[in-house]
Amino acid sequence: MFKNHSRQAAVARTVTFAGITHYYNRMEVVKENLLFLISTPYYLVIIGIEILLSHLQHRSLYTQKDTLTNLYLMLLNAGIDVLFRAVYVGIVFQFCFSHSLYHWPQQGWLYWLCLLLAEDFLYYWLHRFDHEVRFFWATHVTHHSSQQMNFTVGFRSSVFQPLYRFLYFLPLPLLGFKPLDVVFMYSATQIWGIFVHTKLIGKLGWLEYLLVTPSHHRVHHASNIKYLDKNMGMFLIVWDKMFGTFQPEMAEKEYEPIAYGLTKNLEKPNAVSIVFHEWRQIWQDATQKGLRFTERWNYVFGPPGYSHDGSRQTSKQLQANEEWPASEVQLIMDNEPVTT
Ligand SMILES: [Zn+2]
Ligand SMILES: [Zn+2]
Repeated sequence: MFKNHSRQAAVARTVTFAGITHYYNRMEVVKENLLFLISTPYYLVIIGIEILLSHLQHRSLYTQKDTLTNLYLMLLNAGIDVLFRAVYVGIVFQFCFSHSLYHWPQQGWLYWLCLLLAEDFLYYWLHRFDHEVRFFWATHVTHHSSQQMNFTVGFRSSVFQPLYRFLYFLPLPLLGFKPLDVVFMYSATQIWGIFVHTKLIGKLGWLEYLLVTPSHHRVHHASNIKYLDKNMGMFLIVWDKMFGTFQPEMAEKEYEPIAYGLTKNLEKPNAVSIVFHEWRQIWQDATQKGLRFTERWNYVFGPPGYSHDGSRQTSKQLQANEEWPASEVQLIMDNEPVTT
């Protein structure tokens, strides 16, 4: 069923301050509050179990400083999200919804299934660009700067992501998904997204084929070269398999133990540097003397690790070198038969 103009006009009229308030009240009371009420005890229980097992098994899965940093970054992110949500949900999503190309006849299981698939697909690309474009990596890097892997790392948010994340999800209200349902589905899949941050759960059998599992997400947080920029999905792993970013976790004897964190970890992280260090580095790189325009551009919008003089390497360059070390390439070239 395509455009219904009277319905559009009615929806468009709600794009006002009163409309925002109305939507906020509905959202807070009905769905998001319910989700919050269910998820909070769930988080506390799984974190409690993890701390207990960490203690019993004498594994230092938690450090006080790292956990406090995770909490600090979550609060910054949540503050920005709450402040900005009125704009992107109440105005931008609502505007797109009022001009939607399709009207769902009913909100049954097919509506919710399509929303889940479409939103998870779009999240994959948000996350992928966060990793492959340095301008966005500068924000997302905070999620990866912990050298621990526990459930609280899941709360270690990309602080400024709420300011641009909504742009990736604009197709959803345009496809007739209600703005509040889009936000609700994002929050619901995020519950799974928190659950995959742990060392305590091994591989999950057949679920490994379908879902992003703790094993997949451990790879995502690893700084080992083979694991860089892999497994970007939030809920389904199928997107990584379709678009070439999938990497299973390998046994230590096959590869090497996972080292969590960044390829170059911050030496003295503090409250400011942990959020802004990559921005400062971008500024220093892009304002070097004597660079061409394309080189400055690449320092900002190219892949993380780009350098005009080869002093640093991108993930892809590191992976190519690991696969084909220069010494091996030389050996092959030396042994190649000479043809005339
Ligand atoms: Zn990431
Ligand atoms: Zn993560």
